[in-house]
Amino acid sequence: MKKLFYFLLCLVFICGCTQNKPTDVLVLKNATIYNGKGDVIKNGIIIIQGSTILEIGDKTVTIPKGAEIIDITGQFVTPGLIDAHIHFAQTGFFDARPNVVDLRDYFDFDELQDDLKNNPQSYYDAYLRSGVTGVYDVGGFLWSITRQEEAENNENAPHVAASGPLLSGVDQNRLDYFNTSDAKQMVYLSSPEMGRETVRQYSNLGSTGIKIWGVMLKDSSFMKSLRAVADETHNQNNKLIVHATSLDQAKEALRLGAKILVHSVEDKEVDEEFIQLALKNDIIYLPTITVTRGYLEAFKSFKEKWDFDDAHNAMDVRAKTFLETSTDYLDKLPVDFNLEERIKRFENYVSQDEPIILQNLKKVHDAGIKVAVATDAGNPGTFHGVSIYYEMEMMQKAGIEPKEIIVMATQNGAIAMDRADDFGTLEKGKFANLIILEKDPAIDITNFRSITHVMRTGVMNSIYNE
Ligand SMILES: [Zn+2]
Repeated sequence: MKKLFYFLLCLVFICGCTQNKPTDVLVLKNATIYNGKGDVIKNGIIIIQGSTILEIGDKTVTIPKGAEIIDITGQFVTPGLIDAHIHFAQTGFFDARPNVVDLRDYFDFDELQDDLKNNPQSYYDAYLRSGVTGVYDVGGFLWSITRQEEAENNENAPHVAASGPLLSGVDQNRLDYFNTSDAKQMVYLSSPEMGRETVRQYSNLGSTGIKIWGVMLKDSSFMKSLRAVADETHNQNNKLIVHATSLDQAKEALRLGAKILVHSVEDKEVDEEFIQLALKNDIIYLPTITVTRGYLEAFKSFKEKWDFDDAHNAMDVRAKTFLETSTDYLDKLPVDFNLEERIKRFENYVSQDEPIILQNLKKVHDAGIKVAVATDAGNPGTFHGVSIYYEMEMMQKAGIEPKEIIVMATQNGAIAMDRADDFGTLEKGKFANLIILEKDPAIDITNFRSITHVMRTGVMNSIYNE
């Protein structure tokens, strides 16, 4: 009977999509709705016209005559999920990270990057099938900036925000591992003037944020350039987003006006000074808890096939291929690469850093600092789309209430992307970006895995469990 219900529901959605008349009014009725702002609406009604929410509320909302009504009694609705830290120029394996494991004899880096630039649809599909309707690419080639508009106009893609290339003080040889023969995703910050010019260029191209990779506190010439970058970012009405994983680095980033910290503070417990600086800047804190575990599992996958849970068949083809073939590369690892040592090192990172990361997340959240859900997808072992479930589950493990995680995964992600006026919450006038779940995500965040449908700007893109 349940299966029949889904079949009928799917038919209705398919018909709804193919007719695709912008004047059509669709009503979702009788669900428990979490609106992304922390509120719950029981027996809720959402009225959707074209791409937009016309009205939302409880059973007192008037349903327009002639509207197509879908009764989803017993189901749960949240805004579409947002992953606030991803990289479209990375694949979830080491082919895109030769600085970690150099497999360039087997994967031509320039060809790979051409493919990632020209064929994003498999990643778009992976996101939508995972319920993710918005992503923030916080570091990539210049094409990531133009992808914002391309994806916006593609109803089969998540909304995209992008910062463009990363600015770093790490020496050029190390940065070049990330760059192709004719384009850079890692740019050496060589002087204050160069920094200012770069900020102006990216801002003119429409970058959402200026990303700094590493705060090298002891390098006075880098810090001078970084101050110029921070100042120019402010002048351009753009925002500084910073990779800083130690407490000292993170505090300096906040003093320079950082608006987003893209990782947790990992070395020690955050202190009162950090909290006050973060509150003053009204920052978004992105914990990215699971990315280190991702590396560990990816290293282990050279030795033993990784049995990854992809229950919705949401993963992109390239990631699936890696999971199938990773052991083939065991005898192809560079001679100077010590796999056992690397596995040990990452086991140590996980056991030492993760408790601090979880503790800091709870402390930051309790202090009233905004947190958004962010995976760092594209890094080895952190796959586009599906990784968001693991990240949210670790946040729950940190002691964050599931209903708070829903807000972090929706409203706060949209704020990070500078798109809170358009989506992230289910409100009148915003895009109809939502997901339907069989189980209640506010009871247990693992219930996000019970997703059955995802809608992006009023269009139902994917159907599961039929
Ligand atoms: Zn990242």
